[in-house]
Amino acid sequence: MTTATHCPYCALQCGMNLESAPGAPLLVTERSFPTNKGGLCQKGWTSAELLSSPQRLLTPLVRDSKGGALRIASWEEALTRIRDGIAGIQERHGRDAIGVFGGGGLTNEKAYALGKFARVALRTSQIDYNGRFCMSSAAAASIKAFGIDRGLPFPIADIAYAGTILLIGSNVAETMPPLMQYFQAQRDNGGSLIVVDPRSTATAKAATLHLQITPGTDAALAIGLLHIAIREGYINKTFIDSRTEGFDAVRQIAALWWPARVERLTGISEHQLAFAARLLGGSSGAMILTARGPEQQSHGVDNVLAFINLALALGKVGKPSCGYGCLTGQGNGQGGREHGQKADQLPGYRKLDNPLHRAYIAKVWGIDEADLPAPGRSAYELLDAMGTEGGVKALLVFGSNPAISAPHAGHIRSRLDALDLLVVSDFFLSETAERADVVLPTAQWAEEEGTMTNLEGRVIFRRRAVEPPDGVWTDLEILTALAGRLGFSKFSSRPREVFEELRRATAGGVADYSGITYERIVAEDGVFWPCPDGRHPGTPRLFLETFPTPSGRAKFHPVEFHPPAEEPDTEFPFYLTTGRVMAHYQSGTQTRRIPMLMEASPGAAVQIHPSMALTYGIQEGAEVRLTSRRGSAVFSAQLTSSIRMDTLFVPFHFAGEGSANLLTNPALDPVSRMPEFKICAVRLDKGTSC
Ligand code: SF4
Repeated sequence: MTTATHCPYCALQCGMNLESAPGAPLLVTERSFPTNKGGLCQKGWTSAELLSSPQRLLTPLVRDSKGGALRIASWEEALTRIRDGIAGIQERHGRDAIGVFGGGGLTNEKAYALGKFARVALRTSQIDYNGRFCMSSAAAASIKAFGIDRGLPFPIADIAYAGTILLIGSNVAETMPPLMQYFQAQRDNGGSLIVVDPRSTATAKAATLHLQITPGTDAALAIGLLHIAIREGYINKTFIDSRTEGFDAVRQIAALWWPARVERLTGISEHQLAFAARLLGGSSGAMILTARGPEQQSHGVDNVLAFINLALALGKVGKPSCGYGCLTGQGNGQGGREHGQKADQLPGYRKLDNPLHRAYIAKVWGIDEADLPAPGRSAYELLDAMGTEGGVKALLVFGSNPAISAPHAGHIRSRLDALDLLVVSDFFLSETAERADVVLPTAQWAEEEGTMTNLEGRVIFRRRAVEPPDGVWTDLEILTALAGRLGFSKFSSRPREVFEELRRATAGGVADYSGITYERIVAEDGVFWPCPDGRHPGTPRLFLETFPTPSGRAKFHPVEFHPPAEEPDTEFPFYLTTGRVMAHYQSGTQTRRIPMLMEASPGAAVQIHPSMALTYGIQEGAEVRLTSRRGSAVFSAQLTSSIRMDTLFVPFHFAGEGSANLLTNPALDPVSRMPEFKICAVRLDKGTSC
């Protein structure tokens, strides 16, 4: 039997088929879907292996006392333990003593149900999710500038027709290989690709121009390019006058960023700056795409706004083959931030601090608006406060592994251990689940149906290909059972019923799904939101006529350059930057359990420039220790001249001593509360001793 579905991992959500035969494991085969056109990366091809992994959790586990071992338990015992724990903690410490931590990989149905569970069944304000660590800066910047946050406001097919693309801080060739076919088509159509990255990645090597930027100077680059664009007459005055507001203040700032000043900060030569500005300004169609590089910084929102200013000034927004976009990372990073997992949000991108929005959602949920909590803490702040006076005393984790993925991970692990109750729902015993008091085994993507929203804002449908193993429940079944034990019956474990409620809850909201049905998604290869009724075709391209701001105009923001929270000094002389490698995904809970992927990328390696390795007497493959102000970690040395001499790179997928987030800096962006994963200062030592 063939089941048409999608890959469980990243935001491209490549279409794939799962072939099943009696007695045989599921097999991934090619499926022609508009986004990936049959292509998959090695993670997609091997994804079905996890369904029959011997490491899967098949029963609940409970820990009788702190420091004791996890033991097998029945669902009844596990759920009763959770209910009693929640009741006792809320009685002693109040409703907000229970926290919920979700994930950007959960389906829309699960993200919606989790947000409702927190606000209705727990009545806690303390819910956020790991998407805060991924897309929140671009989301906040897009809302400020355009009045809406949809990662790409156009389909990825448009990439092929852009004259010039400026891609900042993304290594698409490794993180989303099937997407490269669109960049290749763009080059074949005569287009130019400019890649901004401190490393000469596979993506940078495929570019027309690689700008090997000093980490943390993205805003200076964007403002400097705008300076040249103004000087050389590339700006589009007609577009600025008719469709935007606030340009004058931005122009005044740009006037001070002459190329020599930008070169000194960014390390990008005046010649390269002029060439980049000419490619962008001289193209009839141009796109500016950001990813985690400029976004995961303590001034990530300003960085993104600086690039949006550039796109607006060039008039490259709201027209075919033009636009600013964010390349979302996690599988449902887009949908996960639309339906209520975020600390300040309600479904449909409604806001918890808006009385009208609160009243609407309270009616859908059948509760008194006064019973809806206020906005809560952001992800890192929620985790940082665990077990402290005023912080949560219990945490329920769904689809996330913060022991690996949170910044300053050593500290976060100690906070997890300080909780009175930690509950983790996962397929495997992740590093967070290892610390839990109760672990709940949950179904994987091919064992349940549901919708995801990909990086284009296209809502897609995942079918169930097989039944979950005996003893394994879906997250919706877990939430429904827990809500029932807490006295709330208005929860459904059926994805279709949850989606129907989600449609009602999002009706009239910014992210309006009310015209989307499972049947339409299947028939139309996905539907782009907003889609406000059943006859609406969906909205592949936004901003063609207007922007959803109060004035209908896009807004410039007069942002300045701010240095990173931490820069190299004599004690910690290198920039450290982190990211993904092709074989692994996020905290590695899944991909570290696939032999072929571990063979391709077996452990944490630090990229070091050969000149620096020579200075430190470090050979290829040698063990080295990196130390930051927060901790230290051990890696094998990978010598490569593709990295700047002042910069080291490590992937963040690994556990144990090679866990990159032991080093990273939790300095938060003041608007998005995004931690500064991308930059911190470290010391490099040969060998593993401190
Ligand atoms: Fe899966 Fe992303 Fe790879 Fe596509 S690019 S196969 S969605 S991990």
